[in-house]
Amino acid sequence: MKPELTLHGQTLQLNRYPIRQHETLQAWDAADEYLINQVEDMKQQQTLTLDAERPVLIMNDSFGALACWFARQGQTVSVGDSYIARTASQHNLAANALPDIAFADCLAPVPPQTQLVLLKLPKNNRLLVWQLTQLCAALPEDCVVIAAAKARDIHTSTLKLFEKHLGPTRTSLAVKKARLIFCQPDKHLAAALPEAQRWAVPEYKLTLTNHANVFSGESLDIGARLLLEHIPQDPALKHIIDLGCGNGVIGLQAARLNPQAKVTCVDESYMAVASCRENADLNLTNPAQLEAKVDNCLESMANSDADLVLCNPPFHQQNTITDHIAWQMFCDAKQSLKQHGRLIVIGNRHLGYDGKLKRLFAKVQKIAQNPKFVVYQAEK
Ligand code: SAM
Repeated sequence: MKPELTLHGQTLQLNRYPIRQHETLQAWDAADEYLINQVEDMKQQQTLTLDAERPVLIMNDSFGALACWFARQGQTVSVGDSYIARTASQHNLAANALPDIAFADCLAPVPPQTQLVLLKLPKNNRLLVWQLTQLCAALPEDCVVIAAAKARDIHTSTLKLFEKHLGPTRTSLAVKKARLIFCQPDKHLAAALPEAQRWAVPEYKLTLTNHANVFSGESLDIGARLLLEHIPQDPALKHIIDLGCGNGVIGLQAARLNPQAKVTCVDESYMAVASCRENADLNLTNPAQLEAKVDNCLESMANSDADLVLCNPPFHQQNTITDHIAWQMFCDAKQSLKQHGRLIVIGNRHLGYDGKLKRLFAKVQKIAQNPKFVVYQAEK
């Protein structure tokens, strides 16, 4: 498959990140194409004139197709919650010899005087409400807002969220199974940003803060609940990694059980990492024991000295169901572990993680199970 997007006589080379051999998935979709075509048509018909001095805001770009298309526009800012999306965008900008643009995470304020917002609908409605509320408070009323998604992901309830949190809303016809949403910002709807969800896990005396896009942000994940019961307590552990940490629940409990150990919590979501940091400050007697950082799996931590990696892997990336992230996590965990270090993984029974683990690790054993999940321990 050629990773080339050609529109309006311009061609972009666009790859997903990380680049994989024999990739079968594109780095852009019909909603990206529809957004680009819509803006170019509006410019041609002079219903939209862009001012080089005012920002164009791109939200939730998947792998940088929009960032690349609008990079020459002047002040382009790409906002999103994914480190992978940001890294893909940066690689694609460089590969196409395009100028750098600004990047921000979703907790950052909306740039003042934004003239155009191009928003790819996030999967998570809590993030959508957060973003619409941010936009409503900050956008000037002349700002053009166009959202896009697969038609099947735009429900009446989605449009109601736009109407409630940003302003009058209408939709386009579907093109290649994608649709656009046009929304006129209405300052009268401006409201305070939603509070992060905060709830307790009384059995573990933990209080967890969850920013809008955090996995299982409204209650404890049932997989995490089983994994919590099988975190080792061992004075010999010096460095523990919580890989795919979400709100940090696993890393926090590991830190409490092992106060002698340094704990590194890693996630590709900026909101997860921010939540994990806040949760460490809130729940640990020594918050400095825990570091929370963004990364793609453990890309920046190869040849680390970890004694233990704890992992509740994801099984989708953006909207695509995939097990390549779990595989990457297991490969990276092996790289980050010292000899005889252990990886403890929880997974749905049907995912068959033991087969993958046995390809990488000498000793793999099942240490717990319930009707839905299995916990495996693999030793390097
Ligand atoms: N550890 C938390 C728990 O048990 O509740 C969250 C587990 S959740 C199943 C998986 C986490 O992996 C999500 O927070 C997701 O953002 C993160 N993740 C997905 N892809 C990742 C990647 N490539 N690198 C790092 N983290 C990733």
